[in-house]
Amino acid sequence: MESYSYTIVSDICEGVGDCVGVCPVEAIHWASGQINAKGTKFAFIDEPTCIGCGACLSVCPVEGAILAEWRPELQRATL
Ligand code: SF4
Repeated sequence: MESYSYTIVSDICEGVGDCVGVCPVEAIHWASGQINAKGTKFAFIDEPTCIGCGACLSVCPVEGAILAEWRPELQRATL
């Protein structure tokens, strides 16, 4: 089945976290105890929960950190 989920690119995310609060289905979580290639904490999207509304992408200030498609190879953490 095709996924509706967006993707947080783990190594582009800068851990700003604006996306976490705007997600209407609480699909965005912190990758606990992990840092990425930029040396920051990062968030990830729970793919089965995401409804593809785009709210996270609209508030993210980091270019390229959130993609409007499901690209599991770019997102390291999962629930
Ligand atoms: S696209 Fe919508 S539902 Fe999916 S993670 Fe982003 S804010 Fe949450």
